[in-house]
Amino acid sequence: MNYYSLNREAPNTNFTDAVIKGLAPDRGLYFPEKITPLPASFFETIDRKSRSEIAFEAIQQFVSPDIPESVLKTIIEETLSFDFPIVKLNDHISSLELFHGPTMAFKDVGARFMARCLGYFNQKNVNDITVLVATSGDTGGAVANGFLGVKGVNVVILYPSGKVSDIQEKQLTTLGQNITALEVDGVFDDCQDMVKKAFLDQSITNTMQLTSANSINVARWLPQLFYFMFAYQQLHNEHDDIVFSIPSGNFGNICAGMIAQQLGLPVKHFIAANNANNVVTEYLTTRKYHPKPSVQTISNAMDVGNPSNFIRIQEIYNNDFNQLKNNLSSYSYSDKETKDALLEIYEQYNYIADPHGAVGYLGCKAHLKSHNNAHCVFLETAHPTKFLDVVEDVIQTKIELPHQIKEVIDKEKVAIKISNYEDLKAFLLRS
Ligand SMILES: *Cc1c(COP(=O)(O)O)cnc(C)c1O
Repeated sequence: MNYYSLNREAPNTNFTDAVIKGLAPDRGLYFPEKITPLPASFFETIDRKSRSEIAFEAIQQFVSPDIPESVLKTIIEETLSFDFPIVKLNDHISSLELFHGPTMAFKDVGARFMARCLGYFNQKNVNDITVLVATSGDTGGAVANGFLGVKGVNVVILYPSGKVSDIQEKQLTTLGQNITALEVDGVFDDCQDMVKKAFLDQSITNTMQLTSANSINVARWLPQLFYFMFAYQQLHNEHDDIVFSIPSGNFGNICAGMIAQQLGLPVKHFIAANNANNVVTEYLTTRKYHPKPSVQTISNAMDVGNPSNFIRIQEIYNNDFNQLKNNLSSYSYSDKETKDALLEIYEQYNYIADPHGAVGYLGCKAHLKSHNNAHCVFLETAHPTKFLDVVEDVIQTKIELPHQIKEVIDKEKVAIKISNYEDLKAFLLRS
């Protein structure tokens, strides 16, 4: 598969190069040249397939010939070593739990897949690659964990001091080896700005190969399409009107779901569930796309004012507003509504959601009002203990910590403090 830049001013390139570069030389996002739907037999026989078989058949066209079949099978097997269960709340609403991986947020799958792809490319490559990533919380941990010990790849994570939860901080500062955490005196936007500046700084890019590990990178983004197939496998015998409500920030996850739909997955509709950061909700009502500074909420992984993957979504629907609107609805919810939903889910269904999942649940409820035959799956994108204070406060109950969290909580934090871009540059060029 070749990839083109959505800015259309850079040459097309193969999967390897798209992953190593992250962003095209013209600063555009890479997009697959052609999406070939899977044969009808793939969906007819999905009950008999293992998760790895589903994933292999779904992603192969995007990575071949760069990654040979046998290598791809191993990468998938290692990436998907945990469960993706559907939990039914009632006949019309289910939760798809994407938090059973090592850092307990859905980003584990993309990070693990991308790390293994880079590791494979690097066997042939003599120069180390540096993965530079800014995090508001979950990305850092998933990337640190996914890339730990990958030869030839150094990972540098920037996070805002005091702005991530204790658990999130431990997940990204306690691993050591090829992972370095930089604790930035500032907010997430400062971290993001420094990373962007580094990618444009030739004194850095001339001396080292930098790449990104957020959802702009095709190897982080595309494997997320597996989730939608796994949900379909678990639900299609009982429900044929399946819709997904996706708690969205940078819109990478929902965009991967739309790729699954392009591959032929029978999805009736997508719902982008947003917190107060509502650029897309506004766009779908006013047709005006106005990025704005992000506002802080209790579902902080969705505090994004200018979702980077929205341009890919527009490409999928040929930049046609009506086509997009037929496939996508969007709703935005306040923190108060989110907390009320957390409590409602707990009281009515004895289920503990996290603030992001709760926003997704609200998206389902809104959609079901006018589509009462649908079955709506909301993506439970993180384990509730990652947002312990908020969740315990709302449901007034102690939650037990899962082993993945217990393992990091007593480890010692190691981070290098930096306060500006010059500090980052000095660190990257230190040797
Ligand atoms: C990253 C994240 C999101 C948002 O996903 P996007 O792909 O950026 O839209 C939602 N929930 C949680 C818990 C996350 O970590």
